[in-house]
Amino acid sequence: MRCPRCDSTYIVRCGKRETRRGNRQQYHCNNCGKRFVYNPFPGKTYRPKIIVDSIKLYYSSHTLSETSKKINQRYKANTSSSTIHNWIDEFKDVCSYSNKRKEHRDEYDPPFIESITFYHSDLRYDFRYHTGKLQDASPYRSNVVDFIRDVPDICPHELFNKDYPEMKRASNQDLKFSARPNTYRTKNQACQLADLSLRANYDRKKRHDQVEEFMLTCDGATIAAELPVWFYDKEQETSITGHVDLVQLRSGKVFLLDYKPDAEKKEPLSQLYTYCRAFSYRTETPLKQIRAAWFDENTYIEFDPTQLHIE
Ligand SMILES: [Zn+2]
Repeated sequence: MRCPRCDSTYIVRCGKRETRRGNRQQYHCNNCGKRFVYNPFPGKTYRPKIIVDSIKLYYSSHTLSETSKKINQRYKANTSSSTIHNWIDEFKDVCSYSNKRKEHRDEYDPPFIESITFYHSDLRYDFRYHTGKLQDASPYRSNVVDFIRDVPDICPHELFNKDYPEMKRASNQDLKFSARPNTYRTKNQACQLADLSLRANYDRKKRHDQVEEFMLTCDGATIAAELPVWFYDKEQETSITGHVDLVQLRSGKVFLLDYKPDAEKKEPLSQLYTYCRAFSYRTETPLKQIRAAWFDENTYIEFDPTQLHIE
């Protein structure tokens, strides 16, 4: 979220304000002092959740009229096919799955998202992948595709549990590298997709899940979410496990992405480097064909894992 006056991201909540559309959260900008009520879709009368859910339903293979019908039932709303069409059209540049949606609808059977729930160390992980995009992947990536399809059966779940004493988690790794990698910072489609998905409801507990589900449904490059990976690290003499937030195939490379709120202030090099090694090992993908990145609504920060060397 940014301040409507000065574009700063130093925003804090400050009570509620009565507006024409009910009691709304008010915010205060710590940079310029402006108070404002956040309006995720200026000029639109429908609730943000209705707009974002419509886009998601449409890209999960429903027609405009099916989407409108489902939304009207779910929210007691009165959208029409043309309302939905306007929203799809407005955000089609962000949702790059628009290029493949029709083709997949003609060729494959929906639903396109396969979802399997794992409990690792008593935490819930909803591993998901997109069947249409996997079918479409280059034969060159068949190891990646096979691993994603097989992982529910081959994942050594006992390794992921905290009572397994030899295990370390990728997210707790604190590796010492001989040099920092060159990082590439930008604001790209991943930021735009995160931003759009979070306009529906900025709930701290749900935002991870919202971003992942939205990207898997609406982005052309994202093929899987919460992918479990593991490997035995000879140097540390221990098994390391983790869950990769998002896997993308684009520009001939595999991208492992981690959604990290306040991305600008963070640098999860150890965690992402470990994901890259585990993923590379499990899928026999050379490290040089993998890129790692962390991102939020404002910033995307990428690096090449071959530039890192453990001291
Ligand atoms: Zn401001």
